[in-house]
Amino acid sequence: MEREATKGRLLDTLERLGNLRRAQTRRLGGEFGLVPVQLESLHYLAKANRYSDTPGALAEYLGITKGTMSQSIRALELKGYLIKKPDPFDKRVIHCELTKAGRKVVQATATPEFVLDALASLPAEEIDQSNAALEALLRAMETNQGYRTFGACRTCRYFLVEPNSFRCELTGEELLDAETMLICRENQPRDEAS
Ligand code: SF4
Repeated sequence: MEREATKGRLLDTLERLGNLRRAQTRRLGGEFGLVPVQLESLHYLAKANRYSDTPGALAEYLGITKGTMSQSIRALELKGYLIKKPDPFDKRVIHCELTKAGRKVVQATATPEFVLDALASLPAEEIDQSNAALEALLRAMETNQGYRTFGACRTCRYFLVEPNSFRCELTGEELLDAETMLICRENQPRDEAS
């Protein structure tokens, strides 16, 4: 019974955090004439790696339909916040690249001070525990629903550390240090991969 009550409190907390986050996204996006899905698209593309900056990956990450994704990308193109580029090796693949103006919007709408202040007020240990618990919850939901896990290279079973470089075992390509911090749609968490 107590366990059920704890689960209920957790669901309430997640709901309230989600509501606050949505309200911020609406407010911050509104300052640039963007609806939430458009601002979220810019933020996703700013942190997606070269295998994940495609319209399809964007739709998967945000959990939106292809129609919504296409409209969103078109609107961002018209506002000059992104450009579409064909892949140099496979013309069927399109990459969405943020323009300078798009990057400025991402910077200007980064996590607000009051959220950072709230995080800074928590002990490091509490942040670590919350992070671990929420990551475990997210992984369980993604696994149960068959969603992609979207994570950075250092959490991935395909990430190889070589003497003077990094490499993706899945694609065989070398990775720059900065790229290993970006999120990837092909990520396979080390502990869960078979
Ligand atoms: S190592 Fe994993 S996360 Fe990194 S690029 Fe390769 S598949 Fe993606």
